[in-house]
Amino acid sequence: MKTIGLLGGMSWESTVLYYQLLNEGVRKRLGGLHSAKILMHSVDFADIEQFQVNGEWQQAGEQLAAAAAGLEQAGAEMILLCTNLMHKVAPLIEAEIEVPFLHIADASGHAIKAQGLKKVGLLGTRYTMEEDFYRQRLLDKYNLDVVIPDQEDRDYVHQVIFSELCLGKFTPESRANYLAIIDKLRDQGAEGVILGCTEIPLLVRQEDTDLPLFNTAALHAEYALEYSFVGE
Ligand code: GLU
Repeated sequence: MKTIGLLGGMSWESTVLYYQLLNEGVRKRLGGLHSAKILMHSVDFADIEQFQVNGEWQQAGEQLAAAAAGLEQAGAEMILLCTNLMHKVAPLIEAEIEVPFLHIADASGHAIKAQGLKKVGLLGTRYTMEEDFYRQRLLDKYNLDVVIPDQEDRDYVHQVIFSELCLGKFTPESRANYLAIIDKLRDQGAEGVILGCTEIPLLVRQEDTDLPLFNTAALHAEYALEYSFVGE
C-alpha cells in the first residue's frame, strides 16, 4: 500500500470526505484494523479563495506546488489535489514533484467511459464549468462531449458553492434548485452529470435523481486507492 499525499482544505468540508473514503477503501480491501497511509497538507481556504478572486493563479499554483513538494519529501508516493477547480494550476504542481499527480478529471473520465456515456453535464465553480482546463481534458483524453448550464444557472451553482457548501451549509432549497439544473442538463442531452466540485456530493446524492451522477471526490479517492495497490 502506497502513501497518499493530500492537498486539502479546499474546502475542508470535502477533505473530510476524502479522508473517510480512503480509510474505508483500505478497510474494504485489507480488512481488520488496516487504514490508509495518508499525509495531508491542508491550506487556509480563505487565502486560496482570495487568489482566485484576484486572478492570482500563479501565486496560488506556487503555494500548492510548494505544499506538494513538501508532501513528497515527507514520503507521499502520489499527490491528490482535493478540489476540481484548483486543477487549473495542475501543471505548476506537476512541475515541482517526481511522484505521480493523480488528476481528478482522469478519475471521472475513466468512470464515465466505463459506463459507455458520451455526453455529460458538468456542475462546478464558474471556472471549472467555463474554462478549458477541465472540459478540454475530458474531450481530448476521453472524447466526452460536455454540456454546462446557462449563464444564470452557472452563477447560481457557483454562488452556492462558496456561500453555502464550503461553509458546511446544505439546505433543501439549494438541493432542489441543483436538481432542477441537473434536469435541464438532461434536456440538453446529458446522459450523466459530473459533480465537478468536491462539495456538491455533500448536497446532491445519487438517490436524488435517476440520472447517473459522478461524484468527483469519491472517484478521485478510488482512483488513488487503485494506484496505491498497483502491483500488490
Ligand atoms: N472544492 C471545489 C472544487 O472541487 C471548489 C473550491 C475551490 O477549490 O475553490 O472545485
